[in-house]
Amino acid sequence: MARLVMKFGGSSVADIDRIQNVARHVKREVDAGHEVAVVVSAMAGATNQLVKFCRDIAVLHDQAEYDAVVASGEQVTSGLLAIALQTLGIPARSWQGWQIPLETSDQHGSARIAAIDGAPLIAGFAKGQVAVIAGFQGIHRETGRITTLGRGGSDTSAVALAAAVKADRCDIYTDVDGVYTTDPRVVPKARRLDKIAFEEMLEMASLGAKVMQVRSIELGMTHNVRIFVRSSFDKPEDIDPHRPPPGTLICDESEIMEHEVVTGIAFSRDEAQISVRSVEDKPGVAAAIFGPLSDANINVDMIVQNVSADGKTTDLTFTVTAADFERAKDTIEKARAAIGFARLDTATDVSKVSVIGIGMRSHAGVAASAFRALADRGVNIRAITTSEIKFSLLIDSAFTELAVRTLHTLYGLDKA
Ligand code: ADP
Ligand code: ASP
Ligand code: MG
Repeated sequence: MARLVMKFGGSSVADIDRIQNVARHVKREVDAGHEVAVVVSAMAGATNQLVKFCRDIAVLHDQAEYDAVVASGEQVTSGLLAIALQTLGIPARSWQGWQIPLETSDQHGSARIAAIDGAPLIAGFAKGQVAVIAGFQGIHRETGRITTLGRGGSDTSAVALAAAVKADRCDIYTDVDGVYTTDPRVVPKARRLDKIAFEEMLEMASLGAKVMQVRSIELGMTHNVRIFVRSSFDKPEDIDPHRPPPGTLICDESEIMEHEVVTGIAFSRDEAQISVRSVEDKPGVAAAIFGPLSDANINVDMIVQNVSADGKTTDLTFTVTAADFERAKDTIEKARAAIGFARLDTATDVSKVSVIGIGMRSHAGVAASAFRALADRGVNIRAITTSEIKFSLLIDSAFTELAVRTLHTLYGLDKA
């Protein structure tokens, strides 16, 4: 017997047929003798619709009310799945975030989990009850207001709950049967990984692979939760209970015997570039630029500063997410007097392509071969950043797929 948290994403609960399919997956595990808690997302598209409702009333709106609205999608699916389970004879009940309670910070729209009381759920296991928990939601204790964990946050609810109830595993059921070397919808030759280390998955997720929310991997890493990504689209009746199902285990690095140099490639089209031209090359300039951005809560990603040719002025380029672009530009314009620069050049049609692998720690020249391969295909690189287990390249958006495919082949990731 094991204790499992099973999480089902939006496409897995997109309609009544799929919810009934999910109920049969849950029954399969209950029949196998496991203790089960389930976490659900809203039906595919529901959260987007709710977000749009808020924006249609006011582009800038109260974030606490935004949370009250967008959390409702998960309330619906948790109740529906509980009903579906009951019709299969399984004692199930729904739990909203505030009922558990799953306590969070008060950063509405992207709250962080502060504490979870696992006791009521553990008591439920003892009675053979299946808890169906609305993912994505929490409550801020002091204000008593509903919060949400940021888009894709049900993954984080699931991993946090798995840690709180000391589950043996957290199964993430989604519309792909695991984590691939890159997004399989963009690169058909992408290969499913049997295992991926937390650190690599963290990079993949932060750099654009939306299969898991970044925060969920951070939590998995700190609490050492074994996370298994698999498909909800398989018919429960077709699954052989005696064989391991297809999927990807996200686990500690030490569980992986051999590391390829490159594990995967992630990309993000939500990038924007700002170049500050002819700034004075003197101490304090970087602080004058990045101080105001940080005060405005804008995350700066890549930074490139040229070495000044004349010893007087230089150019400084940085990237932010597309969502922060207008605010970032505005912030720099407002700080113009303090910074002192000739002009701003900007680009929003840029993408970031990142190559990730723990094996890079012990291999030199991995990035160099990418530069050659991309140059051969006429892809211009605007900016580069590197760290121990990844490097990222900023390129024109139009070349995103070409670049990802080229690098995927270059590093031997294509499936046979
Ligand atoms: P859910 O609704 O179940 O949470 P998401 O849409 O959030 O599912 O995440 C699954 C999607 O992530 C897949 O459909 C796939 O297109 C995308 N994806 C991006 N990168 C990867 C990757 N490296 N491996 C698998 N899926 C990926
Ligand atoms: N329903 C939420 C969203 O669409 C949370 C999730 O799906 O994980 O972002
Ligand atoms: Mg998701």
